[in-house]
Amino acid sequence: MSSTWRPRWFNSTLLLLDELAVSIDPKGLEGGGDLILISHAHGDHVAGFRLGGLKVCSEATAELYHAQFGRSVSAKLQRLPSKLRFESLELRLEEAGHILGASQFQLYHPERGCLTYTGDLNVEGSIIHRPPPVLDCDVLVVDATFGHPLLRFPSREELYEEVARWVSKSVEEGYTPVLHAHSVGKAQEVVKVLNEYLGLEPLVHPKVARVSEVYLKHGVSLRFKPLKPPLEEGLRGCEVFVAPLLHKPLRAPFKKVRNAVVTGWASVFSYSAFDKALPLSGHSAFPELVSYIEAAGARKVYTLGYYAEEMAAWLRRRHKLEAEALSGRRERARKP
Ligand SMILES: [Zn+2]
Repeated sequence: MSSTWRPRWFNSTLLLLDELAVSIDPKGLEGGGDLILISHAHGDHVAGFRLGGLKVCSEATAELYHAQFGRSVSAKLQRLPSKLRFESLELRLEEAGHILGASQFQLYHPERGCLTYTGDLNVEGSIIHRPPPVLDCDVLVVDATFGHPLLRFPSREELYEEVARWVSKSVEEGYTPVLHAHSVGKAQEVVKVLNEYLGLEPLVHPKVARVSEVYLKHGVSLRFKPLKPPLEEGLRGCEVFVAPLLHKPLRAPFKKVRNAVVTGWASVFSYSAFDKALPLSGHSAFPELVSYIEAAGARKVYTLGYYAEEMAAWLRRRHKLEAEALSGRRERARKP
């Protein structure tokens, strides 16, 4: 095949064909195209909903967007997995294991061959999501958010047990444990761990509750109590509380409180304002990402996200792969 895919970074992952421009996960209003693919509902991936052009995303992504921002979307909504055609392109959507509705995109063009865009990827799955399929391809655009070669996460099972131990101990010692986690995805995983490991039905912040309702609608069994206004009153008598991810602990009116932050960024940054930091991530770290890359069998790999440069350099040197950073932390990633 003489011609191949050559993705470029222009405030989105941009794929230029003779007849159309495909833009994946635009970061702002400059990142448009004829066809806009939106991989999932986290805030740094949804700017494309405000652009013109045909938008494609999963049904759950549109519902989670609405739950967070109160806005409906005009888009072609797909189930996972599914396939569709757009002019000369065949497009396949598969789960990514990251959050509800998170999609990998596989694009096939008769002259360019096959390209896979993983989006934010969790290769191992979780207590909520099954491990996603590996999508083989000629060209791979892969998540490198935690792609630093020295980065490792403890196993999910160990982290779930640590969450359960920390909550139990805090309760036994007379504290109210508050777990701060991203409202979309991580908070639901924490709720599930509290349900399954401790039989607890946590009180959850209204934002977490709105998102969790979407999870319930899509068949994810979660037990939680939504915090209702007046908030001060609702918090009285709370045993364990799941709150949104913040830089500092929420000022909750508990006499004795212990705060934990639950995020993969706890393996990179210090969260000294919290009593406990648990590096539970919706992304895979380097070893799992490499296993995905090897299984996908691409001739060329583009890395995307915070550690894009480091990961591409390591893939070139140690794995003898043709690899290039598409966009790293200077352009896009920020500490949440
Ligand atoms: Zn994400």
